[in-house]
Formats: sequence, structure tokens, C-alpha cells
Amino acid sequence: MGSRRDFLGKLTVSAISLPILYSPAQLFAASSKPYEGPILRVAIMGLGSYGTRVAKAMESCQRAKLVGLISGTPSKVVDWRAKYDIPEKNCYNYDTFDQIKNNPDIDAVYVITPNGLHKDQVIRVAKAGKHVICEKPMGINAKEGQEMVDACKAAKVKLLVGYRMHYEPKTVEVIRMRKAGEFGKLKFFQGLSGFTIGDPTQWRLNKKLAGGGAMMDIGIYSINGARYMLGEEPIWVTAQETKTDPVKFKEGVDETIQFQMGFPSGATASCLSTYAMSHLDRFFLNGEKGFAEMQPSTGYGPIKGRTHKGELTQPHITHQTLQMDGMAQLIFEGVQPIVPVDGEEGLRDLKIIDAIYKATKTGQKVDL
Ligand code: NDP
Repeated sequence: MGSRRDFLGKLTVSAISLPILYSPAQLFAASSKPYEGPILRVAIMGLGSYGTRVAKAMESCQRAKLVGLISGTPSKVVDWRAKYDIPEKNCYNYDTFDQIKNNPDIDAVYVITPNGLHKDQVIRVAKAGKHVICEKPMGINAKEGQEMVDACKAAKVKLLVGYRMHYEPKTVEVIRMRKAGEFGKLKFFQGLSGFTIGDPTQWRLNKKLAGGGAMMDIGIYSINGARYMLGEEPIWVTAQETKTDPVKFKEGVDETIQFQMGFPSGATASCLSTYAMSHLDRFFLNGEKGFAEMQPSTGYGPIKGRTHKGELTQPHITHQTLQMDGMAQLIFEGVQPIVPVDGEEGLRDLKIIDAIYKATKTGQKVDL
């Protein structure tokens, strides 16, 4: 993969001067020795659009490998088996996947199904004794999130959430700068997250399967982004909902929500989550000594941005490749990314989403 080669080439000259920016997995990749450590053997559950992207990205991983499939569509299993050379014994459907507990060749299951299915599927995987990686949003409310965290703890398996931006080099650099105090006292974050959604029959517009609307799917990027850009947890939210198309966006499926968050330091965030506007993927962070702006800020990349010190020049590497190598390293060696990707992190976002929905209904400020 060209971008990865470019990245590795750059690393050989800059690895020593930039140790904080890259995980040890990437630094290891820059050395001449081939990787000989453990490989995280992953089964993907849900062979849809994002599962397809993750599978492709994993082809470039050193520490993670796609070895199994869980799907309700037999024809996809046939195609994926041929493409990724996956043995039949590692393939399951939604009725049979509990049997994965008897399969010593699978370490972890990556759940990439509609949001409303995550909780039960994650808990079943945990009970089968396998580590779980779950797509965002981890569940559809904080109650579900807590159940998932508890079940994985009880089963002594890891629960990780697909927060790919926590491994993205430009994002990691801005977080590093924030931690080093380079922006000074932080004052304000703005997050704009949205796209225009198409097909009205898709699961993303079905309350039961999606758990809500744009907030669950795309607004969560501004929530998570506010937290990692400011480095604090919000203590209150206010929110206002607007709906221009009540036929497409039925009861409980939000089209557009503007929301504000307040943080213990006095910093505030102002965010927009929508399924009704295009080209909306922008973060802006303001502090007493400087600023960061990123646009696009959370798309598949390349992410673009600059700070008061100049343009962000870290290389683009496929996000899901970095994420899966990083998660393998976290599972095997306990190496944490710059901000967490665990179930507690997923739960924090769900608590904020619950509060935002409550604020849209009551019109009141909701304390967290
Ligand atoms: P898709 O609709 O493209 O795929 C979902 C897959 O889930 C389906 O193809 C199907 O796979 C399986 N599935 C099981 N039950 C159902 C059901 N009742 N209805 C529909 N599909 C079902 O969705 P995405 O891949 O776009 O999204 C899946 C998850 O990934 C969501 O939680 C989403 O938020 C998250 N996501 C994360 C992104 C990120 O950047 N981190 C980006 C995009 C999505 P099969 O036929 O194999 O059973």
C-alpha cells in the first residue's frame, strides 16, 4: 500500500524524534526486522459496507488478521471466504455464533452490525470467551453500555470500541500538543458533523435498529472529538432539535440537533449533528496560546488541518489498519492509545447522548 510505504519511509528518519506520535507497532514496522509477535485473529460480524472497509484495511495489518466471518447472508460468506482464504470451520451465522467458544483459532470478534443489535451480540461474544471490538455507537443508550461493560468484565474479555480517530496521526498530534500545553488554557471547541442521508428505508433511519438518528451515527464524532480535543469530561449539556422532514425522520429519529457542552475548566463546546447537510466534518479548538482546526476532521481521510504553529503534516495511513494493529497491541501487550478505546470510553459517549436527547425533549440544561 503506497501510503503505508510512504509513512514507513518517513518514519525511518523521524521515528526517534517523534516517539509519542506513533504506537510501538508502527515504530517496530520501521525497523528492518519482520514482526514475529502474536497475531490477533479476528472474526468480523456483519459483512456490510463498513465491515468490507475494515477487512480490506486489515490486509495491511502486521498484528491483526481476518480469520473468521459471522453473517446472515450465505452468498457474502462464499465471496469473502474466497477473497480472504477463510476456512469453513471459522464461519458462523447469527444463530450459531455462540459456538465460537469452541474455536481456538479465533481470538476476537469485531461487531459491525446496526447499532441496535450491538448490545446482545457483544454480550453473546463475551459469554463465548472472546475479546470484542464493537463499532460506534457501542449501544443505543447508557443502560445498554453499562450492561456491555459489565458482561465483558464478568467474562474477563476486553471490550474495545472502533474509535479509529484515536490512532489517526494528525489527531494524535493535536492531542499531544494539547497535553503538552501548547494551546494554553483551552476555551472553546466547535464540532460540525453531518451528511445528507439517502435511502429512507435503510436501518440508519429505523429507530429500533439505529437507536436514534444522526446523533447516534455522526453526531457522536463531535461528542467524542470535544472530549479528546479538550481533554475533559462535560458536566452539562443543552440541545435544540430541528426537523424539516418528519416523513423521512420519524419519531425518535433525529435529523438535526445543535448541542452545547460545558466542562469543569469553564471551556465550552458548540456542536452540530445532522443528516440533512453535506460537507460537514470540521473541528475547531481555541486556547489562550493557540488553535487547531481540522477539516475534514473525522472522515476516512486524508485528514487535513493546521494549528497556530502551521499545517499538520503527519502522514495519512488507512485508519482501520492503524486501529487494528493498535488494538492487537493493546490486547497482547496492554499498550494504550493516546486516548482510550475501551468500553468505558464508549459508555461515556452514550451517557452524553442520553443527556442530549433529554435536553432536546425538556428544553432544559441537563447535568451530567
Ligand atoms: P451496513 O448496513 O452497510 O452493514 C451492516 C451489516 O450488518 C449488514 O450488511 C448485515 O451483514 C448485518 N446485519 C445484521 N442484521 C442486520 C439487520 N437487521 N439489518 C441490516 N443489517 C444487518 O452498515 P454499516 O457497515 O455502514 O454500519 C455498521 C456499523 O458500523 C454501525 O454501527 C455503524 O455506526 C458503524 N460504522 C462505523 C464507521 C466508522 O468509521 N467507525 C463507519 C461506518 C459505520 P450480513 O449480511 O453479513 O449479516
